[in-house]
This record gives sequence, structure tokens and C-alpha cells, in this order.
Amino acid sequence: LGQKISQALSMIQNAESIDEKVLDACLKEIVTALLQADVNVRLVGKLRDNVKTRANNADKGAGLNKRKIIEKAVVDELSSMLSSGVDEKKLVDLKKGQPNVIMFVGLQGAGKTTTCTKYGAYYKKKGFKPALVCADTFRAGAFDQLKQNATKMQIPFYGSYTETDPAVIAAKGVEEFKKANHDLIIVDTSGRHKQEDSLFEEMRQVSVMTKPDLIIFVMDGSIGQAAEDQAKAFKDTVEVGAVILTKMDGHAKGGGALSAVAATKSPIVFIGTGEHMDEFERFEPNAFVGRLLGRGDWRGFVDKISEAVPEDAMKEELMDSLSKGNFTMRILYEQLANIQKMGPVGQGKEKESAARIKMFMTIMDSMTDKELDCPNPKVLQEQSRVMRVARGAGCNPYCVLELLEEYKRIRALIMGPGGKGKGFMQQMSKQ
Ligand code: GDP
Ligand code: MG
Repeated sequence: LGQKISQALSMIQNAESIDEKVLDACLKEIVTALLQADVNVRLVGKLRDNVKTRANNADKGAGLNKRKIIEKAVVDELSSMLSSGVDEKKLVDLKKGQPNVIMFVGLQGAGKTTTCTKYGAYYKKKGFKPALVCADTFRAGAFDQLKQNATKMQIPFYGSYTETDPAVIAAKGVEEFKKANHDLIIVDTSGRHKQEDSLFEEMRQVSVMTKPDLIIFVMDGSIGQAAEDQAKAFKDTVEVGAVILTKMDGHAKGGGALSAVAATKSPIVFIGTGEHMDEFERFEPNAFVGRLLGRGDWRGFVDKISEAVPEDAMKEELMDSLSKGNFTMRILYEQLANIQKMGPVGQGKEKESAARIKMFMTIMDSMTDKELDCPNPKVLQEQSRVMRVARGAGCNPYCVLELLEEYKRIRALIMGPGGKGKGFMQQMSKQ
């Protein structure tokens, strides 16, 4: 899905000028891609209308600007599709001092047991007193798995080797932990390979017995088109209130996520990015859409510059340049080169980010010394300059603009929005 949308957007990027025809052709591709991924027709229609309106409103602007506006509109609309209309902050910011009972549901292998523990550990760090209840009597070894995870994270747990009714175990566990004043009681349930009736009946019973404050649907992020059916089936049985996508570390781009959000009308609150307990993060719609469009999590990666600098040998040199008053393109180039030197990057998104850094460095290679040392970012934005650099680097002018935008963003981060020494620099000199 992401690739198709990127292709559609590149139609706009490669067009000589953007007229109604080009925009329509591009939108048609995007709409088709979304519909093929089972995204709700109404949502897709809304996306098309909104992008069109925004593009038409931008008609006064120059060609290059319009490209950006359209891309941004598509990204924004996809992000808002992912935001489900429910305030996910309320679901994430659990109240302390009351027993929050959270029930996890999902198919077998989706990652419930792993995610339950990650979830508990996440809130434990925030000062909660979590506890885990194993209501999976279907899978052999389910209790042992939960026990092992819970012990590792030092979270109390409850389960039984002899009781066979999951609803009874769940009710007992929740009661016991309520008495012990736990403010986060997590109920892990069993799954089945398919959406079988027995699974749903069991889920309903556990839910009736434990009266959870929130039911979280755990879904493998890579399942794509099957997502909508699966999510709907769970939502039809119990009151799913939030979604967690797992296995977002692999090649999964999570196109199915859009459908899951639409089907459950519930926001994605967290994602799992690996088998380890700390590979768990808040869901960020914008970063997700970026990844969906194949741009990598470039922003987060670049922000590492400001983290890496203080310990580094290059600190003095950087400070020296900065004290002369400028974070030039050349300094950015050197910082990126340093990041590259920091060694081989990990999987998935870091690799994509590395490719992006390489692309940006290639673009900078096509700049003149004057441009690299230019104190004023505005000069670099001149259209003829952008076109010349793009030609030299053999890339689309759009990529040059992206580099300029990132440069300006990092510059503001380091120099402070008003110019000299109000940002990162000042903080560093205080240390
Ligand atoms: P359950 O049947 O829904 O309880 O799923 P489990 O928690 O037992 O997980 C099934 C498998 O998926 C296990 O091998 C987990 O280690 C793995 N897993 C769970 N979450 C993630 C994740 O975010 N990334 C990766 N790579 N593997 C995961
Ligand atoms: Mg399990």
C-alpha cells in the first residue's frame, strides 16, 4: 500500500506542472490503493475531497510549493484516518489510585502475552503497580510463558495449572489484585488460529466476569488485507477500545493498520517493535505514515545528532563553528558523515534513514562551497539553485527541498528559532 501511494505521489513530483488532470490521476491511484487495502469507502472519499480542496486553495502558490502542499495534504489525511476520532491520550494516561483493569484480546500468535508484559513494564516505569493475570487455559505452556515474562520484569502474576475455566481464573486474579491495591491489572486471554466461535464466547465470558475498563485488541502489524475482517470480528464481540500493533520491526509497513482503526473505531495506542521487553513505543501517526510512504523515521534519527554531540570529540569543533554564529549546510554535512561513521545501522527503519542520509549527502555534494558555507538558508531556496543542485545530484527537486526543510528544522533546533544561541547551544554552554 505504501509503495503504491508513494508511486502516486511521485506522479505529482515528476510532472512539469500541476494541473487538475495530474492531480486527478494521482488521487485516482491513491484512492484505488486504499480501496484495494479494504479501507472504508467513505474514509477514502473524504481523503480525496480534502486533498482536492487544499490543492485548489493553494492555486495561488508557485508550482514547487503546490507539490509540497499536496504531499502534505495526503500525509495529513492519512494521519487523521489513523487517529480514529477518539482521544487516545485518555486511553494512555491511566488514572493512578484506582484499579485499571485492562483486557488483552487477539488471535493466537498476535503477540498478546509478550505485549501484556511490555505494557505492564511501561506503566511500572511510570509509577504504577501492575499485575498480570493469565486467563489462557487453551494453549499448553501459556501460564509458564507469562510467568517467565512477568518474573523478568518483576511484575506479580496470577494463574492456575488446574482450573480450566478462563473466566473463573480471570475473575479470581482480578479480585485478588484489587484487594492488594494494584492499580493496573492486566488480563491476558487465549487466542485461536482462526476467528472461531469458541474463542469469541470465551472472550465474552472473561469480559463479563472481569468488567475491564479497557479492552485492547492486539494485532500483528503485517497482516495487511485480513486486518479489517479480523478487527471487525473482535469489535463485534467485545468493546474493543484501543489497538496495539505488533511486529512493526520487520518488513511490515502496516497498511492493515488503517483498516483496523476504521473497523474498530479505536486508536492505535502502542506498537511492538521486537521480541524484547523494551521494544515497545507509543504510536505516532505521523511517523507511521512516513514509514508507510517509505520515508523512514528520518526525523527521529537526525535528532540523534543533538544527543550524540555532547560526548563527542567533535563537540569543540562544532561549538567553535556555532560560536561564529552559524549552523551551515557544511556543518550539517559533517554531522551526517559522523552519524554514518557511528557504524552499521540496525534493522528496518534505521536502514531507511541511513539511505536517506546518503541521499542528502549526495545532494550536498552537488552544492558549491559558497552554498555549503552560506549563512542564510533563504538563499539556498532560490528556484534556479534548487533545480541546478537536483540536476547535479540526479534527483528530484523535491528531494532538495526536503533536505532544505530538514536543514532549517535542525538549524532552529540548535540555534533556537530566533537565531543565535537560544536552543541547544545555550543549553550546552550551561553545562
Ligand atoms: P500470543 O499468542 O498472542 O500471546 O503471542 P505471543 O506473545 O506468544 O507472541 C508470539 C510470538 O511473536 C513470540 O515469538 C513473540 O516473541 C513474538 N512477538 C511478539 N511481539 C513481537 C514484536 O513486536 N516483534 C517481533 N519481532 N516479535 C514479536
Ligand atoms: Mg499468549
